[in-house]
Amino acid sequence: MMRQFELVERVKSYDPAADEDAINRAYVFAMKMHGSQKRASGDPYFSHPIEVAGILTRYRLDSASIITALLHDTIEDTPATQEDIDRLFGAEIGRLVDGVTKLSRIELQSDHAKQAENLRKLVLAMSEDIRVLLVKLADRVHNMRTLHYIGNPEKRRRIALETMEIYAPLAERIGMQEMKIELEDLAFTELHGDARASIIARLNFLREQGGDLIGRILDELRRTLEEAGVSATVSGREKTPYSIWLKMQRRNVGFEQLSDIMAFRVVVDSVEDCYRALGVVHSRYPMVPNRFKDYISTPKPNGYRSLHTGVFGPERHRIEVQIRTQEMHEVSELGVAAHWKYKQGGGRLTDGRQYRWLRELLDILEHASNPEEFLEHTKLEMFQDQVFCFTPKGDLIALPSGATPVDFAYAVHSEVGDTCVGAKINGRIMPLRSRLGNGDQVEIITSRAQTPNPTWERFVVTGKARARIRRFVRTQQRAQYVDLGRAILVRAFRQEGYDFAEKSLEGVLKIFKQPSVDDLIAEVGEGTLTAREVVSTVFPELKTQRADNVVPLGRKPKPERKDQAGGAIPIKGLIPGMAVHFAGCCHPLPGDRIVGIVTTGKGVTVHTIDCENLEQYAETPERWLDISWDEAEGKAHTGRIDLVVNNEPGTLSTVTTVIAKNVGNISNLKITNRTTEFFEMLIDIEVRDVKHLTNIIAALRATPSINSVERARN
Ligand code: MN
Repeated sequence: MMRQFELVERVKSYDPAADEDAINRAYVFAMKMHGSQKRASGDPYFSHPIEVAGILTRYRLDSASIITALLHDTIEDTPATQEDIDRLFGAEIGRLVDGVTKLSRIELQSDHAKQAENLRKLVLAMSEDIRVLLVKLADRVHNMRTLHYIGNPEKRRRIALETMEIYAPLAERIGMQEMKIELEDLAFTELHGDARASIIARLNFLREQGGDLIGRILDELRRTLEEAGVSATVSGREKTPYSIWLKMQRRNVGFEQLSDIMAFRVVVDSVEDCYRALGVVHSRYPMVPNRFKDYISTPKPNGYRSLHTGVFGPERHRIEVQIRTQEMHEVSELGVAAHWKYKQGGGRLTDGRQYRWLRELLDILEHASNPEEFLEHTKLEMFQDQVFCFTPKGDLIALPSGATPVDFAYAVHSEVGDTCVGAKINGRIMPLRSRLGNGDQVEIITSRAQTPNPTWERFVVTGKARARIRRFVRTQQRAQYVDLGRAILVRAFRQEGYDFAEKSLEGVLKIFKQPSVDDLIAEVGEGTLTAREVVSTVFPELKTQRADNVVPLGRKPKPERKDQAGGAIPIKGLIPGMAVHFAGCCHPLPGDRIVGIVTTGKGVTVHTIDCENLEQYAETPERWLDISWDEAEGKAHTGRIDLVVNNEPGTLSTVTTVIAKNVGNISNLKITNRTTEFFEMLIDIEVRDVKHLTNIIAALRATPSINSVERARN
């Protein structure tokens, strides 16, 4: 176990300005908190965070990352709280530790192998500060190094799979090749130990048989390049057992046929030398077709650059050759960690602020507009268009960013979406229109009585949610148009002295080009057809009689009766916004006398009987509809008042206080006129009914600084 001073010394070796005191405090704090806890290996638990910190010194990380590594398990596994960390180590460390803790929780939640890709994206998206990801990766490296101590084979396998599917690709994603290879090899040992052992045995056998084959090939390659005047460092290695195994799998070949198990690396001084070295190799040895790749002119998305080629090399052995500069080499091994060094001037330890590369990387990630920055492609924002949330059971739901609990509900199941009434986000009840964040746990509260709300369409972002809401609105709307149309027709028939019978409409369907009686009735409800048109088509004699101004004998119009369907049509079960709309001019409230105006294609618009706008419908009485309030309805309605107040300090607060005392909820406020003495304004208030609004108006009138109050008309 690395001792306190050793860790500090290592950090100071690359960062003389490191916060020594804070590292010491973190070391002691973590040791105290983990106390006598033990690892599966029997080592004190505390050895783990120290090793993780040690791994990070290899990447010359800043003291904040080192401290985070020391503290990374304290919140999850010890009595320490987030507040303790924030208080003792400051907000930056607090945020980093919180990030690593969250990632660890995700790990515990999801062991679905098929969600690996989603999880990988989630981890990237959640590592808003790349240091969170680096600490998490180092944590995983150490856990994998000590994996064999874990007794439960199921658990070992799960952790190894996760490493293979999530963490190794993540390490590669940010260019940390060395880490990726170690993670892969450790996971491979657990998952396919036998295959790995036999590949290693085979490699050993070949090595013995061929003598120092790699050495001989190396010698020849070095000589060849030297003779051509290219100065280069050449190294050779066998490929890793895992990469050999992958090739055997992919190409479905046995070990015997797999000849290119050796890879050689040529490191030169400049990009020009890379291509010169390539020319030398290609002119000396026959090329293996389709193996040449130029990642210098086209870098891999993680910033990797190199020339790759395959040749039948010395002694006719098939080998792979990678050619690159020293800078490219370090970037390929250390990933983002190598980047800073070169930007700051050839690797010299200039001013002891090497860890700046991290900040700069974060900066690049934040403002990814610099095209010549080859690490631009490493940007984590690629997942910014998504959020990843969890169900209470830990299932992962990926949604577009800006998604709301309603989108979440529909993504879980259409039924859940249709019946959702509320949502708990991370255990707290939140409005359905809230925006979800990465890692949120979302619990949807449903009710059988609930149906999709047309207003949801304004804030949902997923196509599925939108389509379901629209479909529901359409079917509902149609049902309401049919109800409304029937009520209108019943009344119209009655006025002419007939009882309404749907059967009587069957004969005129063709004339109106409607496929069914319901469709015809819906047209009336929607206002595309008038009741008079329908009645006079069903009873053509009415038209001619009217024209002759002859009153039919023996038939008197029946008197209208309020208790029958022929009377006022109650706005009951008619959902506002669908078949019924409240006029914006007069803001009718329950208790007001009202009248409906049939508007083509929109159903009915409700006005107060004294609304000035009704004048424009005076010439078209057939559009008027006698309607009444549904008494049982307890919904809030918007009333509008017009008031003039004195222009003096505190008046507005007086107004809002009076309204609030009377349990009115202000939904809008607009100042319409302003003089040196007076303010005139319009206020929309949510009230139960007209009486409620009248009370508020009365209370306002009784207030000294208020000059006048009227219910707004138009
Ligand atoms: Mn850990």
